[in-house]
Amino acid sequence: MPEVRDVLIVGSGPAGLTAAIYTARANLRPIVIEGFSSGGQLMLTTEVENFPGFPEGIMGPELMTNMRAQAERFGAEFITANADRIDVTSSPFGAWVGNDEYRGRAMIISTGATARMLGIEGEAGLVGRGVSTCATCDGFFFRDHEIVVVGGGDSALEEASFLTKFASRVTLVHRRDEFRASKIMQDRAFANPKIEVAWNSVVDSLIGTDKLEGVVLRDTVTGATRRLDATGLFIAIGHDPTTELFRGHLTLDGDGYIVTAPDSTLTSVDGVFAAGDVQDHVYRQAITAAGSGCMAAIEAERWLAAHE
Ligand code: NAP
Repeated sequence: MPEVRDVLIVGSGPAGLTAAIYTARANLRPIVIEGFSSGGQLMLTTEVENFPGFPEGIMGPELMTNMRAQAERFGAEFITANADRIDVTSSPFGAWVGNDEYRGRAMIISTGATARMLGIEGEAGLVGRGVSTCATCDGFFFRDHEIVVVGGGDSALEEASFLTKFASRVTLVHRRDEFRASKIMQDRAFANPKIEVAWNSVVDSLIGTDKLEGVVLRDTVTGATRRLDATGLFIAIGHDPTTELFRGHLTLDGDGYIVTAPDSTLTSVDGVFAAGDVQDHVYRQAITAAGSGCMAAIEAERWLAAHE
C-alpha cells in the first residue's frame, strides 16, 4: 500500500487546481494526478477577459500556470500523467498511473470535458484564429465580423443569440431541418434579425490557413456546396465529459456526466467528490469550475473531519 494522503485529486483544470489550493492550505497534503495535458480547456484558449481579478485580461495558459504555482506554494504535489485506473470501493480511494498507485482518504474528481469538434481538415490549426468552441470566451473579439455557428441544441442557439451583440451577421448551420433546442431558445433566435439559418447544412471545409476567411457549406439533401465568407466559426455541437475512467464505479447521467447531490459536489460514493465540467453541463465557465473546486475541497475537509 502506498503512502495514504488525505486528499487525492484527479484532474487539473480550474476545478482541480482550486481544490488543490484549498486542501493544501488546509494541510490535507493533496496529491494531484494532473494528466499529460494539465490545465484543462483553458490551456487551449487565448485571452481570458471574464475571470474576476484581471482587469486587463489574462492568457488562459498563464492563468492555469498561476493556479498551479499557487497550489504548489502550499505543498500540493503533482503527478504529470493520466490516471488509467481507479478504485472507489472504499476509503482510502485509489488511482493508478501504470503500476504506480496513489491513495487518498477522500477523492476529488475534476477531469473536465472536451468540446466536440467537427473533425474537418485545418480545424485544429485555426482554433484561436477564427475557430472557437466558446462564445462567452471569444465573442468579444468578433465585433462587426460575420460568424458561423454550428449546431442545433441550446448551446448553439444561445451562442448565436449572444454573438449577435458583436457580429454583423450570424449564420446558424444545422445538419437537420429542425432544432433540438428548447422552444424559448428557438423563438429568441428566430426573432433576431441578425441570425440566419442554413438548414440541412454542414461545414464541409474551411477557407484560410493563418486565419479563418470562410467556410464551404454542403447541403445534406442535395449535396450542393456554397462558400460563405466568415471570419468566425463557433462550434457548439456538445461536449464530452472525461468520465470513461469512472463508468461503472460512479453514477453518471445519460450524457456521461458524474451525478452529484443537489447543492453539493458529493458523488454516488461517500467520500468521493466531483467538481467542474465533469459534473456541470450548464455553466461550464472557469470561474464556476473554480467555485465548485472550492466546494469540493471544503466538503472533503468536512468529510475527513467527520470520519477521523
Ligand atoms: P446538444 O443538446 O447535444 O446539441 C448538440 C447539437 O449539435 C445537436 O443539434 C446536434 O445535431 C448537433 N451536432 C452534434 N454532432 C454534430 C456534428 N458532428 N456535426 C454537426 N452537428 C452536430 O448539446 P448542447 O447544445 O451543448 O447542450 C447540452 C446540454 O446542455 C443540453 O441538455 C442543453 O439543454 C443544455 N444547455 C442548456 C442551456 C440553457 O438552458 N441555457 C444552454 C446550453 C446548454 P442533432 O440535433 O441533429 O443531433
